[in-house]
Amino acid sequence: MTNICYFCGGKLKKEKVDIARYWGKDLLALRDVPALVCQQCGERYFEAKVSDKIDQKIHQALNAKPDNTIDVPVVQF
Ligand SMILES: [Zn+2]
Repeated sequence: MTNICYFCGGKLKKEKVDIARYWGKDLLALRDVPALVCQQCGERYFEAKVSDKIDQKIHQALNAKPDNTIDVPVVQF
């Protein structure tokens, strides 16, 4: 993987980020995911093996008890 941002040509730096992914209608947050983050535009890149692990973790979480849950306020419209 190149260390240059595909979008703006900025430099990428390895960081751990928090991400949220929808799986159907379920929203799941993942913490400390290793990513390459553009220092210019903030675009995040994930290595293929990391992407695979994200999917794997989501599958696991939906089939088991998660490590942690956070309360999100829901407002009825
Ligand atoms: Zn960029």
